[in-house]
Amino acid sequence: MLYSGLLGLDALPRLAEAVLGLGELEGAGRVVRYQLSFEQGGGARALVRGRVEAVLLLPCQRCLDVLALPVTADLHLGLLGAERELAALDESLDPVLIEDDEAQPLEWIEDELLLAIPSIPRHAPGLCEAPVDGASEGLSDRLDVVEPKANPFAALAALRGREDD
Ligand SMILES: [Zn+2]
Repeated sequence: MLYSGLLGLDALPRLAEAVLGLGELEGAGRVVRYQLSFEQGGGARALVRGRVEAVLLLPCQRCLDVLALPVTADLHLGLLGAERELAALDESLDPVLIEDDEAQPLEWIEDELLLAIPSIPRHAPGLCEAPVDGASEGLSDRLDVVEPKANPFAALAALRGREDD
């Protein structure tokens, strides 16, 4: 059985909280595209293979502007009816415990996309710079604290420089 389709953020509330929005997915719009197939095997009640694709809009931690991050994640899930079935599961599969015989495909799709979000989202090196105005709590604020109040040797050097003039 093969299922495929498109999802908006309204169907994925946990993802909606973690991103600024969805960017344009080629040929599909501002959506998540998914494909799931259910098969037998792998030592599981059912084996789920699939792929999810989306463009996640995230706040860049360097320039604080929006980063559009294309994400593609493959799912290899083994559905289990009870924890004791874990021992028989093929190691290449991620175990998913199905409670009350109820599969939650939206949850799996959401989990894969949440896992794909980097801990520190940033544009590629060289593509952006940190804001320089110091309006945000940035490195400059912390440097002020670390900087020694006065360096006697620097003061001396400055005096010498003046003598040379
Ligand atoms: Zn950036």
